[in-house]
Amino acid sequence: MPHPALTPLAARDMAARDMAARANRPDYARWAARARATGGCAQPIHLRGRVDYRDPLTGELLHRYSTLHEPGGVLRVACKTRRASRCPACAEVYRADTYQLVRAGLVGGKGVPDSVTQHPAAFVTLTAPSFGPVHARREKAGTAQPCHPRRNATPCPHGRVLSCATRHSTDDHKLGEPLCPDCYDTTGSVLFNALAPELWRRFTLALRRRVAKTGGLLVRELRDVLTVSFAKVAEYQRRGVVHFHAVIRFDGPDGPTSPPPAWATHEVLADAVDQAASAVTVSTPAAACLPSRSLAWGSQVDVRPITTTGELTDQAVAGYIAKYATKAAECVGTLDRRLRATDELTDLPVTGHARRLIAECLRLGALPELADLRLSEWAHMLGFRGHFSTKSRRYSTTLGTLRAARIEHNQREHHITTGRLPFDDEDQVLVIADWRYLGQGLTPGEAILTAALTGKPLPPLGPTALKGASV
Ligand SMILES: [Zn+2]
Ligand SMILES: [Zn+2]
Ligand SMILES: [Zn+2]
Repeated sequence: MPHPALTPLAARDMAARDMAARANRPDYARWAARARATGGCAQPIHLRGRVDYRDPLTGELLHRYSTLHEPGGVLRVACKTRRASRCPACAEVYRADTYQLVRAGLVGGKGVPDSVTQHPAAFVTLTAPSFGPVHARREKAGTAQPCHPRRNATPCPHGRVLSCATRHSTDDHKLGEPLCPDCYDTTGSVLFNALAPELWRRFTLALRRRVAKTGGLLVRELRDVLTVSFAKVAEYQRRGVVHFHAVIRFDGPDGPTSPPPAWATHEVLADAVDQAASAVTVSTPAAACLPSRSLAWGSQVDVRPITTTGELTDQAVAGYIAKYATKAAECVGTLDRRLRATDELTDLPVTGHARRLIAECLRLGALPELADLRLSEWAHMLGFRGHFSTKSRRYSTTLGTLRAARIEHNQREHHITTGRLPFDDEDQVLVIADWRYLGQGLTPGEAILTAALTGKPLPPLGPTALKGASV
């Protein structure tokens, strides 16, 4: 781990020496093979242990794999994270899988029939309401507009004029920061994040009710003729509040393999989304010092039909959703890890706005009436504890299926390179595995070598530090 007092030059020198030491070890070839096998993972998990293959009848040991023969006596496996800030290589795999999954639901493939293209589908964006003015980049025909120009704005109670005539550039660090941090409704913002998954659930129920009503059916009768399938991702806006992008599709009773009824058109879908989004609310739990309040979606509900040729194609939508699946809260200037007991709020490497939202999570998290929202635990996510990408059961294939297919392939390759796989029928063998977690990560030199071997980028914050007791 680099010493905090180390100059960048000295740190680079150390990484270079570390790299040379790794490359000169006699087990380098095997180490490099594993670096490739993990797909260039920037923070591989280190395991020590063995796998015994025994005859189920006699108990005879047929074959043993042990990490003793691996470099340093440990096996490195990919971390499989979704977060690009932690491991670009694994996040890329996740992004590609999400793309395939969303796309299969729009054009077929991976077990979904091509006829799914005939089903009405829409790309829906549900945003959060306003919690106070923030610096924003507004564009008109590609040109930046003044942020919040107010000619005769009276000062707020904190003496700030809530006006900003700046035409912000896309990388302006002020974007998302409130015009007045003291006026900004941080309470509303973190409570919205905490309750957004519930608001989404209520939205899907209201959507089904609305569709049933249009078809002249009861909700329980709808199930026999129509399924509403969806895939959604959560995205953080710069102001630190989540919103959702979703593909919502009409299927028949058996999911993508069956057609929806003829009356269930694009227009019916768009109308039901609009109605449901404006109808649902969720009440925050009341506490002694905090009355309950009602939260709803923002007024900007966007519903656009997805077609194979039109303005919004299936491919564009799949790419868009996949892109957001690997972004998380850290993209808006907060932490990519949980807060620790030893963390000082004032020392955290976060923006001022994120710091205030984290502080509000910790304040509300201490209220017993709000315990269910687990705001202290999810303070680093600014209150959101939902999943980043979710889908209904029948949307398309699953990440698990895609992953299993790849693992199967990698396993075989791994077995072949290690001279294993002496058994044709794995069912006839008793497999006893004994693994121990030793740590995670790469040394600075290893990170550079891994990136060079696999053509994958180094993590944006430099090589990850090696955690745990591994070598
Ligand atoms: Zn990884
Ligand atoms: Zn501004
Ligand atoms: Zn103010």
